[in-house]
Amino acid sequence: MTKLEGSIVNSLWPNIRFKKTKLSTIDYRLLTIFVFLLFNFVFLCGCQNKELYKESRVMMGTFVEVTSPDKEAPAIVFNEIKRIEDLLSKYKANSEISRLNKIGKLKVSPDTFYIIKKSKEFWQASNGAFDITVAPLIDLWGFTDKNYFVPNDRKIKNVISLIGTNKIILNDKDNMIEFSVSGMKIDLGGIAKGYALDCAVAKLKEKGINSCLINAGGQIYCLGDKFGKPWKIAVRDPRREKFSGYLELKDKAVATSGDYEQYFMKNNKRYSHIIDPKTGYPADSGVISVTVIAPDGLTADALATSIFVLGKEKGEMLAKKFPATEVKIIETRDVLEIEAKGVPWGHP
Ligand code: ADP
Ligand code: MG
Repeated sequence: MTKLEGSIVNSLWPNIRFKKTKLSTIDYRLLTIFVFLLFNFVFLCGCQNKELYKESRVMMGTFVEVTSPDKEAPAIVFNEIKRIEDLLSKYKANSEISRLNKIGKLKVSPDTFYIIKKSKEFWQASNGAFDITVAPLIDLWGFTDKNYFVPNDRKIKNVISLIGTNKIILNDKDNMIEFSVSGMKIDLGGIAKGYALDCAVAKLKEKGINSCLINAGGQIYCLGDKFGKPWKIAVRDPRREKFSGYLELKDKAVATSGDYEQYFMKNNKRYSHIIDPKTGYPADSGVISVTVIAPDGLTADALATSIFVLGKEKGEMLAKKFPATEVKIIETRDVLEIEAKGVPWGHP
C-alpha cells in the first residue's frame, strides 16, 4: 500500500476506539466485523486504484498492447485502430487505399485524405525520402507477400517511373485523390500506425481517460502518466535479443524504424523493408535503427522512416524542423566500434 492509502486507514482508528467503551459485547463483535470489512474495503479500493488493465490483440500486422488503469481503455483503442486499419490497410481488399490503388481515383474519407496530405508534407520536408508511392517497389522486393526477392536493375527501372508523391493529386474541395500515372500505388505502412495511435488517443481523451500506454509493435503512445509517474519504456538493442535502456515519458509518442524487424538476408547482405525512393533499393544509409520521440504518433512514425532513408546527418537536420522532437540514431559504425572493444554483437 502507498503512503496515502495507509494514512486513510490510520485516520479511522481513533474514532472507532472512542466508540468502543459505550458498546455491549454483541455490538462490539459486530463493530469488529464492521471494522474488518471497512478495513478490507479501504484496502481493496487502495489496491484497485493501483490496478492496471492490460489487453493485446493482433492488428495492423502487429501486436497492439494496451495498458491502463481504466478497464474501458483497451476496447476504445482497439475499436479506433480497427476503424483506421479498415480504411488504410493495403491488405484489406475493401479498404479505401486498396480501392484507390485499383482504380487510381477515389473520393475518400476525411481520415484517408488527411493522412495522404500529411504524407505529402513529409515527402516535401524530407526531400523525397519519405514517399508513400514506393508501394510497387515494396511489391517488387517481395515485402508485401513476404516472398523476398532481389530484382534486377531493369525491373527496378521499369517501376521507378511510378514513384513520386508529386504524382498524387489532392483536391480538398471534394476529398478526391487521383494518381497522375496509371499503375501507381500507395503504401501507408510508414505512417499509418502512428496516425492510428493518435486517433485512439483522441478517442480516449474524448471519453475522459487520461492514463494509457499503447504499444503497437514498437510504435508507442504514452498518454498521461502511470499513477503520477512517467510511463517506462524499454528500448531494444538492434543487434542483440535484449533491452539497451529505458525511456520515461508522459504524453509522448515513440516510433522506431530499424533494419532488424522486417528484412531478409541474401549473400550476406541485409535488405530492409524501407526503400530509398531515389534508387529503388532498400535504404542503405548506414543507419540500423532510428528512435523518434515526438508529441504525436504520426510525426514520430513518418520521421523515423524518413531518417532511416536519409541517414544520420540529413536525418538530424530534418528532425530539427519539428518542435519538441528527439531523435536517437544507431549506425552500423556504432556497432563496429562496440565490436572493436571486444563486446560480441551478434545478429538477432
Ligand atoms: P514498421 O512498419 O516496421 O514500424 P516503419 O514505420 O519504418 O516500420 O515503416 C516501414 C514501412 O513503410 C514499410 O513496410 C513500407 O510499407 C513503408 N515504406 C518503405 N519505404 C518507405 C519510404 N521511403 N517512404 C515511406 N514509406 C515507406
Ligand atoms: Mg514509420
